[in-house]
Amino acid sequence: MDLLIKNAYTRDGKLVNILVEYGMIREITGKKLKEADQTIDAKGSLVTESLISPHNHLDKVLIGDIIEPNESGTLWEAIQKTWEVKRNYTAEEIYQRASQVIDHQIKYGVTHFRTHVDVDSIGKLTPLKGLLAVKEAYRNIIELQVVAFPQEGILKDEGTEDLLYSAMETGANLIGGMPHNEFTPQDSRHHIDILFDIAKQFNVDIDSHTDETDDPNSRTLQYLASSTIKRDYRERVSVDHICSLAAQNDYYASRIIELVKLAEINVITNPGTNMVLQGRLDNYPKRVGITRVKQLVEAGVNVTAGQDCINDPYYPFGKGDMLEVALLLGHAAKLTTNNEINSLYDMITYNAAKTMGISDHRLVEDTPANLVILHGVKTVNEAIRKTPPARTTIRKGKIISKTSLTEEQYYEVEKPKTKN
Ligand SMILES: [Zn+2]
Repeated sequence: MDLLIKNAYTRDGKLVNILVEYGMIREITGKKLKEADQTIDAKGSLVTESLISPHNHLDKVLIGDIIEPNESGTLWEAIQKTWEVKRNYTAEEIYQRASQVIDHQIKYGVTHFRTHVDVDSIGKLTPLKGLLAVKEAYRNIIELQVVAFPQEGILKDEGTEDLLYSAMETGANLIGGMPHNEFTPQDSRHHIDILFDIAKQFNVDIDSHTDETDDPNSRTLQYLASSTIKRDYRERVSVDHICSLAAQNDYYASRIIELVKLAEINVITNPGTNMVLQGRLDNYPKRVGITRVKQLVEAGVNVTAGQDCINDPYYPFGKGDMLEVALLLGHAAKLTTNNEINSLYDMITYNAAKTMGISDHRLVEDTPANLVILHGVKTVNEAIRKTPPARTTIRKGKIISKTSLTEEQYYEVEKPKTKN
């Protein structure tokens, strides 16, 4: 079965026809191609690599409707508010909520997902079991990576270290962390040492929530980055949020960014959640809450952006549309020139793929045909500005989702009378 996408614009502004065979992009050409088994006329819309969602919490999505509101709006209250729900989790109920979000994200052009899953003494391994069932059910449709995430701390929450080992044995794909959620800086370092011990034992990558606070004294990134180098784990570590970097002085922050670059660490910023949760203890002016995105990008660090949360005590908004995430980041990080807007699109495609360990996520010949057609827009700039709802999602050469939009106008505009 082959597929022809005709009359599509690529990111570099060329109008092309694309032939897909056996799940691979075979030909991209300005010339006419013969019809295939299946043909899509893109009618001059933009086609790119599919979108990638590198950071989410699918075990906690959509609990906002059944939980007490987060009155202070802080991360710490959100964590505590979730405890009650976690105690009553079932794998089936987690499966329902998570799959609902995945279905939406597929509709928005996402084919690859990385989710964290809480592993702690409250919910134990129940959330992991729910998400592994999702991974199994969607195995032929999307790629889903599951990160075992000790949100409540490891030393602070007795039994979590053993649970993390069990989570890896049960089928988690990566080890996650939350080193700033320990009682002392010494415990934070011990937390990081445990992450590397587990990562090495199971030969998995690390993806750690790190310094998700405005407090400039939260400095676990330095030890995490130096451990990455010392323990020979370059290119295998991602850090999420790193908000405190924005609160630290320019001299210290510059040194840390150099270290992150040297350790080849990926950075995942989560603009929506950070803007909502951070800056809560500030009077005016209130900080925007995200890390030093522009500075990290300029230093050559691989930066990507995540949705993080959808309708939960952490973030009451969100729908899983990575174009919306890019739009929010454009505002929060003040990325507004054409080059910067292009870099936003890289963050939700190539950079996110690199973070997930996928090296061939490019719209070029002889790569897997994981694509999105953004109907009704021609450029990346227009895509992020308009976040068009009509999209076609293609995974390994198969159309897995198509959303069309019907528009009807019930008015007529009188032409202005021009005088000769
Ligand atoms: Zn997160």
